[in-house]
This record gives sequence, structure tokens and C-alpha cells, in this order.
Amino acid sequence: MLRYAMVIDTRTCIGCGDCVVACKTENNIPAGLNRDWIVEATRGTYPDLRSEYRSERCNHCSHATCVYSCPTGASHYWNNSNITVVDPSKCTGCKACIAACPYDARLIMHPGGYVDKCTFCNHRVAEGLDPACVSSCPTQCMHFGLLNDPRSIVSQLLKRRKHKTLLPETGNEPNVYYLT
Ligand code: SF4
Ligand code: SF4
Repeated sequence: MLRYAMVIDTRTCIGCGDCVVACKTENNIPAGLNRDWIVEATRGTYPDLRSEYRSERCNHCSHATCVYSCPTGASHYWNNSNITVVDPSKCTGCKACIAACPYDARLIMHPGGYVDKCTFCNHRVAEGLDPACVSSCPTQCMHFGLLNDPRSIVSQLLKRRKHKTLLPETGNEPNVYYLT
């Protein structure tokens, strides 16, 4: 399986939200809905506290409970990779995948009524481009690539820098990493 990952440097993310705007524009997301969002969290222990901004989205899990919970096959892995996508024509809007996702990464797309989520911009990946959010970041804190390739930027960063994933204890094997 091709394993795509996003690596985001929390030390250089300034929480500007350009990634959120880029996603909405690139993917025609209706007003009031988002495929990605910014979380401001506190890191460290008192009195050594720091703010951490995280750009969050679907984690394109290697063991995606949303895919396994979908009764119609609408949620599936794209192109022999960990990129999880939804086929709107097969989605009945039952919301089983919404309940199964530990990251709250799925949304009901109006007016279609089907479930939508981050696609890692697979239409851009298919053309050899980075996802729109990665390309738009003014501090270049976001990186994208294949973990199967030890020379890729994401493999190199994870080798060199301390990092974490969100909710690894779920066993979903998320593929969005945060450099700390
Ligand atoms: Fe599915 Fe949620 Fe994992 Fe994305 S983050 S692959 S929606 S379980
Ligand atoms: Fe949006 Fe694409 Fe970034 Fe996912 S990878 S959050 S779909 S811009």
C-alpha cells in the first residue's frame, strides 16, 4: 500500500488559517463547512507553557475505522493507498463513518446530503502536486509525501525531528504527524 503522510511543524505554524481558506477554495466547500480546521492547544507544564497551533483534518489512517464501518462501500481507500475518500453516488448518508471516526473529520455535505471529508487533495496528488493546504502555507510548515520513500521530505523530517500523532491509542494508525 502507498502510504502518504502530512507532516506539520507546530513550531512554525502561526494559526493564520490560510490552509483552511485554500481548502475551501480548491474543493468548493460550502459556507459554514470545513474539511480542515485550526486548534490552539497548550503544551508543557506550568510555568513552562507554550501555545501550539495545529492544522487538523482527516488523518488518512492506515487502519481507517470509517472505511471498515461503511455498509455500502462508499468510504474506501483510493488507488492502493491510505488516502480515504467517499464515493457520493454510493453514500446513503447513514453516518456510520461519522460515528466511527475518532477525529471528527467527516461532515455532511449540503445540499447533496452525502458525507464529505479531506481527500488529501487526491486530484492534485494524481498530478504530482502537493495538497492545496500544503501549497498555500505562508510559513511552509506543512509537508506532504510518501512514507514508503525513505528520501521523501516527510520520511526525512520524521527521522530527524521529534513528532507525535493524535490519538494513536485508537489503533487507527493516523498519517498526519506533528513536529513538536
Ligand atoms: Fe477515517 Fe477519521 Fe481516520 Fe479519516 S481520520 S481515515 S475519517 S477514521
Ligand atoms: Fe483540504 Fe486538500 Fe488540505 Fe485535505 S489535503 S485539508 S482536502 S486542502
